[in-house]
This record gives sequence, C-alpha cells and structure tokens, in this order.
Amino acid sequence: MTMKGLCVGIDLGGTKIAGALVDQDGSILRRIRLETRVEQGPQAVIDRLVEAIVQLTDGVRSSVEGVGVAAPGPLDSRSGVVFSPPNLPGWVDVPLRQVLEDRLGVPVKLENDANAAAWGEYWFGAGQRKGSMIYLTVSTGVGSGLVLDGRLFRGENTFAGEIGHTIVDPEGPPCGCGRQGCLESLVSGTAIAKFGQTTDPSSLIHSLAAKDGGVIRAEHVFEAYRMGDAHAEKIVRQTVRYLAIGLSNLIHIFNPGKIVVGGGVSRAGDVLFPLLQEQLDSYLMAPFRGTCEAVPAALGEDAGVLGAAALWTDRRQQVGTGDSS
Ligand SMILES: [Zn+2]
Repeated sequence: MTMKGLCVGIDLGGTKIAGALVDQDGSILRRIRLETRVEQGPQAVIDRLVEAIVQLTDGVRSSVEGVGVAAPGPLDSRSGVVFSPPNLPGWVDVPLRQVLEDRLGVPVKLENDANAAAWGEYWFGAGQRKGSMIYLTVSTGVGSGLVLDGRLFRGENTFAGEIGHTIVDPEGPPCGCGRQGCLESLVSGTAIAKFGQTTDPSSLIHSLAAKDGGVIRAEHVFEAYRMGDAHAEKIVRQTVRYLAIGLSNLIHIFNPGKIVVGGGVSRAGDVLFPLLQEQLDSYLMAPFRGTCEAVPAALGEDAGVLGAAALWTDRRQQVGTGDSS
C-alpha cells in the first residue's frame, strides 16, 4: 500500500478494546476488537493495546501518521497520563501515551473517551465539521464533549465538558461522584430505570419488564410512555425537563448550533427529540430560541475510534496531545 495519511483509532472506553485503521475521509479500512480484561491490570491491557495497534498497522506502518487513543477519564490529554479511572481498576497515573510511543515507535495522542466521540461526530458524523457543537452521550452515565469554533475544547487541565456532573437540582438524588443532583443522577439510563422501579406496580413499566426478564430498564419506561402510561409519562417529562435545563445552561454559555445526542438512551429518540426541542426553547432567552438543533449521533459505537483517529486527520487543528511532535 502506498496510501498516505492513515491513522489508527483505539477506543478503550467500551466493554472491549476497539481499534480501527482509518483514512483521511473517515473510512475504516481495518478493524480489531479484543477483550479488555481490566481485571488483569494495566500491564496486560497495555500489552493488548500494543498487539491491536501492531495488527492494524501491519504492512502499512510507514503510511501511519499517528495513533489516537480514547480512554476513560480522569486523564490529562496534554501529558498523556491516565489517572485512576473507575472503569480501569488498578490504573494509577499511567503515562499511557509515553509507554505506547516507546513500545511502538509511532506518535500517540490520548483523549478522554467522551471528547474523542465528540470529535468523531464533529469530523465524520452529525457535526458535519461546522461551527460549534455539544456532544452528549446518555447511557449508564452521561458523558459529553465540546467542539467550539471548530476546535475540541479541553480547558486548563483537559477536564472540560463534564456536563453530566453539572448540578441541575441541589436537592436531587445522590450521584456516583459523591455529590447530589448532577444531570447524570437525573437523566442517565440508570436514573431513568431507578425512577421506573419506584413507580406504582399498576404502571405498564412493571408489566413490560416482567415479560422481559423482570428487571426494569430505561427502555421499558420509554415503551410504556409510547403506550400512553401516565407513570412513564411523568418520568419521561421529568427527564427531558432536566436535560433541557442542563443543555439550556450550556447554550447560553457557548451558543452551539447543534447538540448531538448519542448513547443507549438516544435509541428512544422518537420520544426524546421532539420533547427536548420543545422544552429547550422554553428555557432559552429570546435571541437563543431556534438557534440550536438537537440531533441524533450518526456514528454509533464507531464515534470513539473515529474521533481518536481524527485527532490526527487535520494537523492544522493541533487538538491532540503531542502538539509539538
Ligand atoms: Zn455527579
């Protein structure tokens, strides 16, 4: 192969290590998936990362511009150090970028997984490489990333974009972060399921879950809503209300043209998007109304690998870590 400008994207944020060899247009030329096996500790996971990258770049090494790795935070994408993510037990201040560069001899950039997904959607998905965009992923938790004026915004410590932990109700439920009333504690799939579990047993939510393994999940709440269940309607309306409050705060601060919503909960987009658009406008000051459109994410599970690869697609953006390299 004589192709120039290939990039490797690795997503360590999912249940498996997902990797892809990607060209400048965002076409995936090769893929790999390996078990992460986090319980074996950082060294074993890093060995598998190296294996994945070696396989993806076999025979095309000289055409590879760089490797982008999306990993669960907290991490510092400038220094390339992974701190101690709850999803990677045993990892403490691992200098992942340096370790991979030393072992592979190719330049590596590290990015928080939600930021990488935001960047992927901006470059190759629903963001369409235009202007300012907020990416939100709502699944078991709530992650997000900010693309402002065409650049991934990372902030002083590269921690920016934690929309999920902005407080939208100081009296709200406890959050996994130790505080209460965070957006995540009110609108995540986990939260929606919990609200569903506390509904009256006469609710359709319970009968739908009973026919489907017995455990109430967010999708049962949305299904009951579609069937006209009043309890489900209350939960869905509350979810959308808090989402709209959280997002309207961001819209007033950043004036994005688009909010791109991904993650498992966005599969209920037929229910969520019309309600969200309507509620959003009601929380916005006059000049902002109608300026921001909420749209579904376009890349699904590939957002992370594509975004990680896209850290290398446009050198002018200089978004990743090894900016000097
Ligand atoms: Zn929180």
